[in-house]
Amino acid sequence: MRIVRFQTGGHVHLGNEHGDGRVTLLEGDLFGTLVDSGEPVRVEKRLAPLEPRDILCIGLNYRKHAEEGKQAIPPHPVLFMKNSGTVQNPGDPILLPRRLESREVDYECELAVVIGRECRNVSREAALDHVLGYCCANDVSARDWQRQGGGGQWCRGKSFATFCPLGPVLVTRDAIPDPNALRIRTILNGEVMQDWSTGDMIFDVPTLIEFLSASTVLRPGTVILTGTPHGVGAARTPPVFLRAGDSVSIEIEGIGTLTNPVAEEQAPLLTGV
Ligand code: MG
Repeated sequence: MRIVRFQTGGHVHLGNEHGDGRVTLLEGDLFGTLVDSGEPVRVEKRLAPLEPRDILCIGLNYRKHAEEGKQAIPPHPVLFMKNSGTVQNPGDPILLPRRLESREVDYECELAVVIGRECRNVSREAALDHVLGYCCANDVSARDWQRQGGGGQWCRGKSFATFCPLGPVLVTRDAIPDPNALRIRTILNGEVMQDWSTGDMIFDVPTLIEFLSASTVLRPGTVILTGTPHGVGAARTPPVFLRAGDSVSIEIEGIGTLTNPVAEEQAPLLTGV
Protein backbone atom coordinates (compact mmCIF):
# COMPACT_ATOMS: atom_id res chain seq x y z
CA MET A 1 0.00 0.00 0.00
CA ARG A 2 1.09 3.58 -0.68
CA ILE A 3 0.04 5.66 2.31
CA VAL A 4 -0.29 9.42 1.94
CA ARG A 5 -0.88 11.86 4.77
CA PHE A 6 -2.70 14.98 3.69
CA GLN A 7 -4.75 17.95 4.72
CA THR A 8 -8.16 18.72 3.22
CA GLY A 9 -10.65 21.21 4.63
CA GLY A 10 -8.43 21.85 7.64
CA HIS A 11 -8.36 18.19 8.68
CA VAL A 12 -5.47 15.74 8.47
CA HIS A 13 -6.18 12.30 7.01
CA LEU A 14 -4.41 9.22 5.77
CA GLY A 15 -5.14 7.88 2.30
CA ASN A 16 -4.28 5.00 0.02
CA GLU A 17 -2.76 6.20 -3.24
CA HIS A 18 -3.68 3.95 -6.15
CA GLY A 19 -1.76 3.37 -9.37
CA ASP A 20 -4.03 5.72 -11.33
CA GLY A 21 -3.42 8.55 -8.85
CA ARG A 22 -6.76 8.22 -7.05
CA VAL A 23 -6.62 8.44 -3.27
CA THR A 24 -9.11 6.66 -1.03
CA LEU A 25 -9.60 7.40 2.65
CA LEU A 26 -7.89 5.17 5.20
CA GLU A 27 -9.49 4.70 8.59
CA GLY A 28 -7.65 3.62 11.71
CA ASP A 29 -4.18 4.10 13.07
CA LEU A 30 -0.89 4.15 11.16
CA PHE A 31 0.69 1.86 13.78
CA GLY A 32 -2.39 -0.27 14.37
CA THR A 33 -5.04 -1.37 11.90
CA LEU A 34 -5.68 0.67 8.76
CA VAL A 35 -8.74 -0.03 6.66
CA ASP A 36 -9.32 1.37 3.18
CA SER A 37 -12.84 2.81 3.24
CA GLY A 38 -12.92 2.96 -0.54
CA GLU A 39 -14.18 6.54 -0.30
CA PRO A 40 -12.41 8.75 -2.87
CA VAL A 41 -10.86 11.87 -1.36
CA ARG A 42 -9.35 15.06 -2.68
CA VAL A 43 -5.82 15.77 -1.49
CA GLU A 44 -5.61 19.51 -0.88
CA LYS A 45 -2.13 19.48 0.60
CA ARG A 46 0.25 16.56 0.91
CA LEU A 47 2.09 16.26 4.23
CA ALA A 48 5.13 14.29 5.38
CA PRO A 49 3.80 10.71 5.72
CA LEU A 50 4.20 10.76 9.50
CA GLU A 51 5.33 12.87 12.44
CA PRO A 52 8.38 10.86 13.51
CA ARG A 53 8.94 10.05 17.13
CA ASP A 54 12.71 9.97 16.77
CA ILE A 55 14.89 10.46 13.73
CA LEU A 56 17.99 8.27 13.86
CA CYS A 57 20.52 8.86 11.12
CA ILE A 58 23.44 6.85 9.83
CA GLY A 59 26.53 8.59 8.48
CA LEU A 60 29.10 7.17 6.06
CA ASN A 61 26.96 4.18 5.12
CA TYR A 62 27.80 3.93 1.43
CA ARG A 63 31.24 2.77 0.37
CA LYS A 64 31.78 5.33 -2.36
CA HIS A 65 30.49 8.17 -0.18
CA ALA A 66 32.99 7.25 2.56
CA GLU A 67 35.70 7.31 -0.12
CA GLU A 68 34.70 10.73 -1.48
CA GLY A 69 34.87 12.13 2.05
CA LYS A 70 38.26 10.42 2.54
CA GLN A 71 36.81 8.59 5.56
CA ALA A 72 37.69 5.06 6.69
CA ILE A 73 34.98 2.37 6.51
CA PRO A 74 33.50 2.51 10.04
CA PRO A 75 33.52 -0.68 12.19
CA HIS A 76 29.97 0.05 13.42
CA PRO A 77 27.18 2.19 11.95
CA VAL A 78 27.86 5.88 12.67
CA LEU A 79 24.80 7.17 14.53
CA PHE A 80 23.59 10.74 14.91
CA MET A 81 20.16 12.30 15.32
CA LYS A 82 18.01 15.05 13.85
CA ASN A 83 15.32 16.58 16.02
CA SER A 84 11.69 16.01 15.01
CA GLY A 85 11.27 19.73 14.28
CA THR A 86 13.33 19.25 11.13
CA VAL A 87 10.55 17.42 9.25
CA GLN A 88 9.28 19.15 6.12
CA ASN A 89 6.38 18.28 3.81
CA PRO A 90 6.77 17.42 0.14
CA GLY A 91 6.58 20.63 -1.87
CA ASP A 92 7.33 22.96 1.03
CA PRO A 93 10.61 24.87 1.11
CA ILE A 94 13.93 23.88 2.59
CA LEU A 95 14.91 27.06 4.43
CA LEU A 96 18.52 28.22 4.36
CA PRO A 97 19.34 29.22 7.97
CA ARG A 98 19.78 32.95 8.46
CA ARG A 99 19.34 33.47 12.22
CA LEU A 100 22.30 31.16 12.62
CA GLU A 101 23.77 31.66 9.19
CA SER A 102 24.88 28.86 6.92
CA ARG A 103 26.29 29.32 3.44
CA GLU A 104 27.01 25.60 2.95
CA VAL A 105 23.64 23.84 2.89
CA ASP A 106 23.84 20.49 1.11
CA TYR A 107 21.44 17.76 -0.06
CA GLU A 108 21.65 14.01 0.75
CA CYS A 109 19.23 11.49 -0.78
CA GLU A 110 18.38 8.75 1.71
CA LEU A 111 16.09 5.77 2.08
CA ALA A 112 14.00 6.35 5.23
CA VAL A 113 12.87 3.28 7.18
CA VAL A 114 9.77 3.70 9.36
CA ILE A 115 9.60 1.42 12.40
CA GLY A 116 6.09 0.04 12.96
CA ARG A 117 6.54 -2.25 15.96
CA GLU A 118 8.65 -1.77 19.06
CA CYS A 119 12.17 -3.17 18.67
CA ARG A 120 14.58 -4.25 21.37
CA ASN A 121 17.45 -6.64 20.70
CA VAL A 122 15.94 -7.57 17.34
CA SER A 123 17.99 -9.99 15.26
CA ARG A 124 19.00 -9.24 11.72
CA GLU A 125 16.77 -12.09 10.53
CA ALA A 126 13.65 -10.71 12.27
CA ALA A 127 14.44 -7.02 11.69
CA LEU A 128 12.22 -6.34 8.68
CA ASP A 129 9.16 -7.72 10.54
CA HIS A 130 9.33 -4.53 12.62
CA VAL A 131 9.30 -2.19 9.62
CA LEU A 132 6.08 -0.43 8.67
CA GLY A 133 7.45 0.89 5.41
CA TYR A 134 9.74 3.21 3.53
CA CYS A 135 9.82 6.74 2.17
CA CYS A 136 12.27 9.16 0.57
CA ALA A 137 14.23 11.53 2.79
CA ASN A 138 16.57 14.44 2.21
CA ASP A 139 19.13 14.65 5.04
CA VAL A 140 19.75 18.35 4.46
CA SER A 141 23.03 19.35 6.07
CA ALA A 142 24.68 22.70 6.86
CA ARG A 143 28.29 21.59 6.31
CA ASP A 144 29.82 24.61 8.06
CA TRP A 145 27.84 23.95 11.25
CA GLN A 146 28.30 20.18 10.88
CA ARG A 147 32.07 20.48 10.71
CA GLN A 148 32.93 23.50 12.84
CA GLY A 149 29.90 24.64 14.80
CA GLY A 150 28.85 21.54 16.69
CA GLY A 151 31.70 20.76 19.05
CA GLY A 152 32.56 17.65 17.07
CA GLN A 153 28.89 16.51 16.92
CA TRP A 154 26.91 16.63 13.68
CA CYS A 155 23.53 17.38 15.24
CA ARG A 156 23.72 21.19 15.03
CA GLY A 157 24.40 21.21 11.30
CA LYS A 158 21.79 18.53 10.62
CA SER A 159 18.96 19.87 12.79
CA PHE A 160 17.81 23.19 11.37
CA ALA A 161 14.07 23.51 10.73
CA THR A 162 12.97 22.02 7.37
CA PHE A 163 16.18 19.92 7.12
CA CYS A 164 14.30 16.61 6.93
CA PRO A 165 11.86 16.52 4.02
CA LEU A 166 9.99 13.17 4.01
CA GLY A 167 7.66 11.68 1.42
CA PRO A 168 5.96 11.73 -0.97
CA VAL A 169 4.35 8.51 0.31
CA LEU A 170 5.01 5.78 2.84
CA VAL A 171 5.25 2.51 0.91
CA THR A 172 4.48 -0.44 3.12
CA ARG A 173 7.05 -3.18 3.62
CA ASP A 174 5.17 -5.80 1.57
CA ALA A 175 5.60 -3.66 -1.57
CA ILE A 176 9.41 -3.47 -1.18
CA PRO A 177 10.75 -6.99 -0.66
CA ASP A 178 14.42 -5.90 -0.63
CA PRO A 179 15.19 -2.36 0.61
CA ASN A 180 18.81 -2.87 -0.42
CA ALA A 181 18.09 -3.21 -4.14
CA LEU A 182 16.68 0.22 -5.02
CA ARG A 183 17.96 2.94 -7.31
CA ILE A 184 18.32 6.23 -5.44
CA ARG A 185 18.92 9.65 -6.99
CA THR A 186 19.16 13.37 -6.24
CA ILE A 187 18.19 15.81 -8.97
CA LEU A 188 19.06 19.48 -8.45
CA ASN A 189 17.47 21.95 -10.88
CA GLY A 190 17.12 19.15 -13.43
CA GLU A 191 20.71 17.90 -13.07
CA VAL A 192 21.39 14.44 -11.64
CA MET A 193 23.76 14.86 -8.67
CA GLN A 194 23.54 11.43 -7.02
CA ASP A 195 22.60 8.20 -8.82
CA TRP A 196 23.37 4.94 -7.12
CA SER A 197 21.85 1.86 -5.48
CA THR A 198 20.91 1.12 -1.89
CA GLY A 199 22.81 -2.13 -2.51
CA ASP A 200 26.03 -0.19 -1.81
CA MET A 201 25.20 0.30 1.88
CA ILE A 202 28.02 -0.82 4.18
CA PHE A 203 25.43 -1.86 6.78
CA ASP A 204 22.18 -3.00 5.15
CA VAL A 205 18.74 -2.22 6.59
CA PRO A 206 18.39 -5.42 8.69
CA THR A 207 21.89 -4.93 10.12
CA LEU A 208 21.09 -1.32 10.99
CA ILE A 209 17.91 -2.34 12.86
CA GLU A 210 19.78 -5.08 14.72
CA PHE A 211 22.49 -2.58 15.74
CA LEU A 212 20.14 0.31 16.59
CA SER A 213 17.84 -1.87 18.70
CA ALA A 214 20.67 -3.56 20.60
CA SER A 215 20.26 -2.87 24.33
CA THR A 216 17.93 -0.03 23.25
CA VAL A 217 14.27 0.47 22.42
CA LEU A 218 13.09 1.73 19.02
CA ARG A 219 9.49 2.80 19.35
CA PRO A 220 6.87 2.81 16.59
CA GLY A 221 7.24 6.01 14.58
CA THR A 222 11.02 5.99 14.76
CA VAL A 223 12.45 6.93 11.39
CA ILE A 224 15.91 5.70 10.37
CA LEU A 225 17.76 7.64 7.67
CA THR A 226 20.10 5.06 6.22
CA GLY A 227 22.88 7.22 4.77
CA THR A 228 23.59 8.80 1.42
CA PRO A 229 25.60 7.68 -1.61
CA HIS A 230 28.45 9.65 -3.19
CA GLY A 231 27.82 12.84 -5.11
CA VAL A 232 27.01 15.24 -2.27
CA GLY A 233 27.58 18.92 -3.04
CA ALA A 234 30.37 19.44 -0.51
CA ALA A 235 32.55 16.76 -2.13
CA ARG A 236 32.32 18.28 -5.62
CA THR A 237 34.93 20.46 -7.29
CA PRO A 238 33.92 23.21 -7.01
CA PRO A 239 31.45 22.52 -4.18
CA VAL A 240 27.73 22.88 -4.91
CA PHE A 241 25.50 24.24 -2.16
CA LEU A 242 21.78 24.95 -2.16
CA ARG A 243 20.67 28.45 -3.11
CA ALA A 244 17.33 30.23 -2.85
CA GLY A 245 15.27 29.41 -5.94
CA ASP A 246 16.70 25.90 -6.35
CA SER A 247 14.51 22.81 -6.66
CA VAL A 248 15.82 19.54 -5.23
CA SER A 249 14.26 16.13 -5.79
CA ILE A 250 14.98 12.79 -4.13
CA GLU A 251 13.88 9.78 -6.20
CA ILE A 252 13.79 6.19 -4.98
CA GLU A 253 12.73 3.25 -7.11
CA GLY A 254 9.38 1.86 -6.01
CA ILE A 255 8.62 4.86 -3.79
CA GLY A 256 8.50 8.02 -5.90
CA THR A 257 9.87 11.55 -6.01
CA LEU A 258 10.13 13.99 -3.12
CA THR A 259 10.59 17.55 -4.39
CA ASN A 260 11.25 20.70 -2.36
CA PRO A 261 12.04 24.26 -3.40
CA VAL A 262 14.77 26.15 -1.55
CA ALA A 263 14.28 29.56 0.08
CA GLU A 264 15.98 31.73 2.68
CA GLU A 265 14.76 31.76 6.27
CA GLN A 266 13.19 35.11 7.02
CA ALA A 267 14.99 35.92 10.26
CA PRO A 268 17.62 38.44 11.32
CA LEU A 269 21.15 37.18 11.67
CA LEU A 270 22.24 36.22 15.15
CA THR A 271 25.60 37.90 15.53
CA GLY A 272 28.43 37.13 17.92
CA VAL A 273 28.29 33.33 17.65
MG1 MG B 1 22.98 11.63 5.79
